[in-house]
Amino acid sequence: MPDPAPRAPTPSARIRTIARTPAPPREIDTDICVVGGGIAGMSAAIEAARLGRRVVLIDSAPFLGGQSVGAIIATFCGLFSNGTHGYQLTRGIADDILDSLAAQDRALHYRHGPHTVVVYYDEIALARWFETSVRALGIEVLLGATLREVRRAGGRVEAVCCATRFGDIAVRANGFVDASGDAALTWLAGFACRQPEGAQVFGTQMVVVEEINEAAAPTREALAAAMAEHGEAFGVRRREGLAFIIPGRGVAALNVTHTTTPLEPLAASAAALEGREQADRAVALLRHAFPACFGAARVRAYGTPGIRQTRWIAARHTLSEAEVIAGTRFDDAIARTAWPIELHDHASGHRWHLFDRDHVHYVPLRSMIPAGADNLIAAGRCIDADLAALSSVRVMGPCIAMGAAAAHALDLAGPGGLDRIDLAALHGRVRDNVDGQHWRWQQQD
Ligand SMILES: Cc1cc2nc3c(=O)[nH]c(=O)nc-3n(C[C@H](O)[C@H](O)[C@H](O)COP(=O)(O)OP(=O)(O)OC[C@H]3O[C@@H](n4cnc5c(N)ncnc54)[C@H](O)[C@@H]3O)c2cc1C
Repeated sequence: MPDPAPRAPTPSARIRTIARTPAPPREIDTDICVVGGGIAGMSAAIEAARLGRRVVLIDSAPFLGGQSVGAIIATFCGLFSNGTHGYQLTRGIADDILDSLAAQDRALHYRHGPHTVVVYYDEIALARWFETSVRALGIEVLLGATLREVRRAGGRVEAVCCATRFGDIAVRANGFVDASGDAALTWLAGFACRQPEGAQVFGTQMVVVEEINEAAAPTREALAAAMAEHGEAFGVRRREGLAFIIPGRGVAALNVTHTTTPLEPLAASAAALEGREQADRAVALLRHAFPACFGAARVRAYGTPGIRQTRWIAARHTLSEAEVIAGTRFDDAIARTAWPIELHDHASGHRWHLFDRDHVHYVPLRSMIPAGADNLIAAGRCIDADLAALSSVRVMGPCIAMGAAAAHALDLAGPGGLDRIDLAALHGRVRDNVDGQHWRWQQQD
C-alpha cells in the first residue's frame, strides 16, 4: 500500500492562559422570580409571562418539570371532578398540556376509572412542552441553579442568590414564588416553616419497565395482593402499589416502593440509593408473581427520588383535613380538587379517603403566603396544610391552579403587599379554576 500523501500540519488554535480574578457574582433584575420548575412553578412562570411580566425561572435540576418529569410521576391526578367522566377543575396550562400531548402519538391516555379520570402522560413529551413554552414566552431560565442565600428587608424578599457549576448568580425581583416543593426559598429567607414531627410521609422511587405484555397486565387488586403476599420474601417495604400503562407502548411506570425523604444532605443521598434497590426488589417480585406480564420486564429508567411532603410554609391559615372533608369554600379560594386524601404515612401502604361524586375542596390564598411576607408566595406541595389535607391538594391538578394564582396574586399586589390584594379582582382572574365546569367529553355517569 502506498504511503499516504504527507498532510500539512493542522494550524494550532490560539490558546489563552487564564486565572480567576475574584469578582462579585452577576446580578440580574426581573419582575417575577419563580424558584422551582415543577408543575406548580411552570404554571406560575408561564402565567406570569402571559400577563406580560418579565420572568426568571430557577431550578437546581438540569431540566424543567420537577417531579412531573424527573421523578416520572406518570399521571395527572386531581384535574377532574369525581365520576367516570367528570368535568375539568383546572384550566390554564392544563388545557395546553392536554391538547398538545393528545395530538402526539400515544403521549396521553385518559383512564376513566370507576371513581375519577386520571391522565397518563409521556414524561418526555411533557418535558418538551415545558421547554418549548418557556422559549416561546421569553422566560429566562436558570437550570442547575441551587438557592444558597436569600436577601430580605423586613417582609420583602429582595434577591435570591444561587450557585451553579458556571458560577454564582443573584436574581433581584419585585415578587417571588416559592415552588421548590420543600419551601427552600421561604426557609432560607428566615420565615417560619413547618415539618412533620413524630410522623413521616414516605416518598417513592418510580421506575419505567419495558418489554411488558400489556394484555396480561394484573388488576390493581391483584398487584396489591401479590405485593402483600411476597413483599417480605423479596425485601420490599411497600405492600401495595400501582402500574401505569399507556396502551400500545409495552412499558409501565411502577409506583411500588416507599422510601424516606430526609432533608439532610447525606441522609437524602443514602435514601435515594436505597430507593433504587427497593425498586429493583419490587421489579423482581413482579417478574415472579406475574410472569405473563412482567416475565421479560427490565428497568429502562429510574426517576429522580419521588418526594411527597417534607417541609412547607407556615402561613396565616393551615388548610385542615376537616376543611377538606367538609369542602369548605373560602372567600379567597384560588384552587380546588376532588382528589382523595392520599397519605403515605406508613411504610407498607397509604391512607386513602375517597370523596363522593359531587365533592370538591378548595385551597385558600391565605395558605400560600408565608406569615410576615409581603412579596413572597408559595405554590404546589409546600403550601400550608396539615399532613392529610396536603396529601390531597399536592397532586398536579391543584398544583397547576396554585401556580396560576400565585402569578396573578403577584401581578395584582400593590405597595400594600400580598395581604392587601383585591380578592374580587383575583377571583375574576382565577374563576375558571374555582367555579368553572369545563366538560372535555360527554357526561356518561
Ligand atoms: C412518587 C409520587 C407519585 C405521585 N403520583 C402522583 C400522580 O400520579 N399524579 C399527581 O397528580 N400527583 C402525584 N404526586 C404528587 C405530585 O407529583 C407532586 O406533589 C407535584 O408534582 C409537586 O409539584 P411541585 O411543583 O410543587 O414540586 P416539585 O415537582 O417537587 O418541584 C420542585 C422543584 O424545585 C426545585 N428545587 C427544590 N429545591 C431547590 C433549591 N434549593 N434551589 C433551586 N431549585 C430547587 C426542584 O429541583 C424541583 O424541580 C406524586 C408524588 C410522588 C412523590
